[in-house]
Amino acid sequence: MTIVLATRNRKKAEELLDHLADLPITFRTLAEYADAPQVVEDGDSFGANARKKAITVARALGLYALGEDSGLAVDALGGRPGIYSARYAGPDASDDQNNAKLLEELRGVPLSKRTAHYVCHIAVAAPDGTVVAEAEGRCHGLIGVELRGTQGFGYDPLFIIPEYHKTFGELGLTVKRWLSHRARACERIRPKLLRLASRASDP
Ligand code: IMP
Repeated sequence: MTIVLATRNRKKAEELLDHLADLPITFRTLAEYADAPQVVEDGDSFGANARKKAITVARALGLYALGEDSGLAVDALGGRPGIYSARYAGPDASDDQNNAKLLEELRGVPLSKRTAHYVCHIAVAAPDGTVVAEAEGRCHGLIGVELRGTQGFGYDPLFIIPEYHKTFGELGLTVKRWLSHRARACERIRPKLLRLASRASDP
């Protein structure tokens, strides 16, 4: 069985593969399909966007596809940037610009009130566009007052794991692999993917 990871974010694909590569499934990335469609993320939830990515790519390529949508919800900002995390500071915003905007919006908010969580929603679609598996994971933390660490991507240099007093940017994959929203979503989708793979290999 082959599943295409419907993302062009290299770091995201690396993390997904880190969790799922040992399954009896061949994973491919969009890097191998130059003419795969660009998916417009206009859903009103992480789930809607993840399903749209999976369905669009599955139908276009005639293969199973895994869509992932993720983001950061900050309590002091009423859950923003949420589904707009990638383009928080503007349509083509860089991670640095998004982090700078977040620090600016939270200026003066004490650490105890800088609570936040990451969300990761995964959906898998069959070649005909039917969604056959879904899972969501969350990871709770605090938004720091300065960037710390260079590992990970996105908001990781600001996202503090309270138990470690360190950001994901400092902790890197060693810890992110166990605690992250993506790790939790992958853990939940694993048994569903295993069932799909064993059904696909039935004569
Ligand atoms: P998406 O491509 O719409 O799912 O964009 C997800 C955005 O959320 C990324 O561009 C990051 O800004 C943020 N994000 C999601 N997951 C992570 C993570 O694991 N670390 C840091 N930022 C993340």
